[in-house]
Amino acid sequence: MTFNTIDKALERYEKVVLDAASTLENDLRNKVIYSLKLQLVSVYLGFTSKPQKHTSGLCFKDGDKLHVAIFINPDDPIDYIAFTISHELGHLLYKKLTDVLSMTGKANDGSTEITSIMRITDYSEIYGREMEEQVCDIIACRNIQKMGFVEFSDLLKKELQRTAKKRAAAESFISTFGKRLDECDFIDDYDKNGDTFAVKNSFWYYSVAFGLSQIVNSFDDTMGANAYFKLCEALDINDLTYFKSEVKRFQNIEKKRRSSQ
Ligand SMILES: [Zn+2]
Repeated sequence: MTFNTIDKALERYEKVVLDAASTLENDLRNKVIYSLKLQLVSVYLGFTSKPQKHTSGLCFKDGDKLHVAIFINPDDPIDYIAFTISHELGHLLYKKLTDVLSMTGKANDGSTEITSIMRITDYSEIYGREMEEQVCDIIACRNIQKMGFVEFSDLLKKELQRTAKKRAAAESFISTFGKRLDECDFIDDYDKNGDTFAVKNSFWYYSVAFGLSQIVNSFDDTMGANAYFKLCEALDINDLTYFKSEVKRFQNIEKKRRSSQ
């Protein structure tokens, strides 16, 4: 990581960024690609433009160069700042480094990956934006708890409350589709069964280690053409009734499939 700070007073937050990054890195079994991204990323630390504006962040790719920009309001509680930093580092987890390293491919629905969670359908329509936001919040929550923030501040609690329903829906999909989420110590965890490795949670494992094509294809194979696209679209437009009914439908099909084996 290289840091660009405009003010000496911001230097102490470099430590928070480094701590958040190493905590997230230690949550991975396969650290290779993420560690490389951390080495390449340039971090910009600045103050918020207005005193009433809370800490916010942004993660983007400029050509092959990765950037994270964090705009800090020093009046915000430190857990909120650490949460925002962890959220942005979460996005970095899913950014494509190069097509060679990320093994991109086209899914059943013909869509192309932008990150390993967001996709573009016909070079105009993006879907999965909200899924990625929720995934990054889930990761950020887990990350700051591992960093030692257990009792959350009122500001962070309020922010988490605002998005609680969407996040719970995304979590139910990740655990239902991925299965065995609770047993995972790592985001990309697996079991060694004799000579083979069994993935503990397909969603986390594939989105971190490979890409979303396998998730889209596997979900659509079970649920029908374009099912994953429609699921993500429902989260994007906040249609949680449809989202939840699809998660339930997936669960039922899988249950039937397993009992008939
Ligand atoms: Zn975000």
